[in-house]
Amino acid sequence: MDYIEQAMKRAKESNCQNDINFFQALREVLVSIKPLLDKYPKYLDENIIERIIAPNRGIHFKIEWLDDSNNVHVNNGYRIQFNNALGPYKGGVRFHPSVNPDILKFLAFEQIFKNAITGLRIGGAKGGADFDPKGKSDKEIMKFCQSFMSAFYNSIGADIDILGGDIGVGAREVGYLFGQYKQLTNSYDSIITSKPLSLGGSLGRTEATGYGLIYFTQTLLEDQGETLKGKICTISGSGNVAIHAIEKLYDLGAIPVTCSDSRGAIHDSNGIDLELLKKIKLERRASLEYYALERNNATYIKKESYPEGSSFVWDIPCFAAFPCATQNELGENCAKLLIKNDVKIVAEGANMPTTPEAIELFENNNIYFAPGKAANAGGVAVSVLEMSQNSSLHYLPFDVVDKRLQNIMSDIYTHIKKTCDEYNLEMDLISGANILGFKRVADAMIMQGV
Ligand code: NAP
Repeated sequence: MDYIEQAMKRAKESNCQNDINFFQALREVLVSIKPLLDKYPKYLDENIIERIIAPNRGIHFKIEWLDDSNNVHVNNGYRIQFNNALGPYKGGVRFHPSVNPDILKFLAFEQIFKNAITGLRIGGAKGGADFDPKGKSDKEIMKFCQSFMSAFYNSIGADIDILGGDIGVGAREVGYLFGQYKQLTNSYDSIITSKPLSLGGSLGRTEATGYGLIYFTQTLLEDQGETLKGKICTISGSGNVAIHAIEKLYDLGAIPVTCSDSRGAIHDSNGIDLELLKKIKLERRASLEYYALERNNATYIKKESYPEGSSFVWDIPCFAAFPCATQNELGENCAKLLIKNDVKIVAEGANMPTTPEAIELFENNNIYFAPGKAANAGGVAVSVLEMSQNSSLHYLPFDVVDKRLQNIMSDIYTHIKKTCDEYNLEMDLISGANILGFKRVADAMIMQGV
């Protein structure tokens, strides 16, 4: 049995057999690091694979909270502190009914390599709860966040594990989580990023993941003699990442024509009305259905009416496609539609939104593919800038943060491309990213001993 099957077997024995998402992420990394292992047998000699695929620690806690009618509710909370070889654990918190140990293990595993690729000194973690923020009042969100933090605040710290936002956790939730930590510990430590500005947040953090995604794509395209200017782009999602990707696409002269949420999708051939989208999703927290009601020329398609096995978004002809909603949202049928419509590049804003079958189709059809581990790393990179601003008490203007973000994204591309060249991988940026991230973490682990 080769090292891949051996490692998968080992992971299955020590994890739940049904960790579908974690095993998917694991296999992708294991397959793509083969050229590294062939070149440097020390990684197998040091048994690094078995050591790197097991989380250092997983915390599972109960969250009790009261709704506005004083009914008691109970949710499951988790934090997976996967690897801290390069620095303190760092990774977001997700509030969504689909959250379970499998989803968080895959996200934390991906986060280790993403954080390593940025070149910053942080480890990988992820947390969350199977709590649905939809339809909850502001007070209920506050009470839930307070109970969440009370249940595990003693497992985190500014040099131990730093939280951040993710699906269902934006500035409002981050503010409540931070407030409760401060209340419990009497400390203003930077234990969470993506904070509102008045609580020590960084200018540019809200925009960083979406902007970074487009900076990465722009760098890749320029390197290949292409540009986004004047090109039709399709985007899924309508949350933090999608909205800021759309904003930056406009800045670069591209034409973003779609967005979606968990209930349906919009196609607006004149270009998405960004102000209207922000009003509906960020202020009213409403469904995209309202977008079409206020914009006559836009088409709204409910999820139930999507093409079979795909999304309406991926059926729209485009030059560039940006999946920015959630994991495994772009499968084989979506890829076939995109290829039929002559897509040139797919860049992942979300974490693992593309299934292995879809990736294989893109590879076989010579479509540029920018993996989320690299392309959406701008958010965590600016989170580290937020942490350094908190400790120095010196706050940077927006332009400085944005310029640093551009440099970080362009450096990430350059380092991955260099790795691809070193291992004769051509434009296989998935393998380039995995080898680069894996090597940095593995080397740090070896230096720290068994
Ligand atoms: P968000 O603000 O909560 O937005 C998520 C968007 O995806 C919403 O439009 C949501 O629709 C939609 N969505 C969620 N689950 C869905 C499903 N099962 N089917 C279809 N649509 C779904 O979250 P975000 O921060 O933009 O994160 C989006 C993705 O980017 C996630 O994979 C996250 O892990 C990744 N990411 C985020 C950051 C960051 O800095 N925020 C950094 C790196 C990676 P509704 O409006 O209906 O809920």
